[in-house]
Amino acid sequence: MNSAGPEIPAKSHGPQGGRSGARALPELRELLFVADHLGGHARVETLATLEHGGFDFPLVAIHLGPNDPRCPALALFGGVHGLERIGTRVVTAYLQTLAQLANWDRGTQALLESTRVLLIPLVNPVGMYLQRRANGNSVDLMRNAPVDAEDMSPWHLFGGHRISPRLPWYRGATGAPMETEAQAVCDWVRREIFPSRVALAVDVHSGYGNLDRLWFPYARSRTPLATLPEIMALKKLLDRTHAHHVYRIEPQSCEYLAHGDLWDYLYDEYRVAQPEGVFTPLTLELGSWIWVKKNWRQAFSPLGIFNPRLPHRERRTLRRHIFLFEFLLRAVRSPSAWAELSAERRERLLSQGLALWYD
Ligand SMILES: [Zn+2]
Repeated sequence: MNSAGPEIPAKSHGPQGGRSGARALPELRELLFVADHLGGHARVETLATLEHGGFDFPLVAIHLGPNDPRCPALALFGGVHGLERIGTRVVTAYLQTLAQLANWDRGTQALLESTRVLLIPLVNPVGMYLQRRANGNSVDLMRNAPVDAEDMSPWHLFGGHRISPRLPWYRGATGAPMETEAQAVCDWVRREIFPSRVALAVDVHSGYGNLDRLWFPYARSRTPLATLPEIMALKKLLDRTHAHHVYRIEPQSCEYLAHGDLWDYLYDEYRVAQPEGVFTPLTLELGSWIWVKKNWRQAFSPLGIFNPRLPHRERRTLRRHIFLFEFLLRAVRSPSAWAELSAERRERLLSQGLALWYD
């Protein structure tokens, strides 16, 4: 996006009567612009409208492919943390590429006849507008699910706490309902993904470490998850298919534990709803320290820690992950390669996964 951004959509007042949040937030403006030009390939839905500072911010979901929620699905999420603007841009960039491919590429057209791509590129628009991690109520949406981590010290604030909304990583008050954004994501995932036997999700974040990580559950525990063999099979498939890929794949618990992780919560709930199915939510944690290392002045601004600041580095990031999304889209369409395993193969992959990640 150039610095001026695309034009503001004609409809400049939101449903709550406030001014359109697109006026105040370039990432939302870009997303609505792309959504407005998807033509017949997509369905655009507003899951909720968040009011802040006289602006209405829509929580936008986009669906490509068939309407049947039993079809295999790849779901992409970004902007859960308001400072991590690059996540929204990475997901929106892929949406734009996919919509263009759907216009002319017969392979993509055939793929979208049987496979769904679901996107919520900007989960926390108010947080992004306010330039902070949490949402408008100062709640960290990725610590907001009703799940407690095991064996975590109460001093480990980073993993989520209920001390005060003035501190980052606040989970929300005990017993309070989930925040509108977190609730809307969960309801949408239940409706759109739970009926499917094979689904992958990628939630794009930034700000941790100096390499790009792909995390799978759990964040709450060091216990291996039930579909570890399928994750190991997917990892080996990625290693074989893209031998030079850049990702470190590991359970989030290898790095740190956290309360209230939405993906832990939804993964467990899916297991109950669809015991034979395979739903793998991944967090793509972009290693932002690389950008800071190359341009150390960035370290002095909150946005600089989480986002590439120089145009060439930003463009590199926007194109760097497209092959991953394409790979995952092919993987949900071809589950026999990794998600439909014989008992014998599961056994073998389980011991490999345990040895690699849980030793
Ligand atoms: Zn994040």
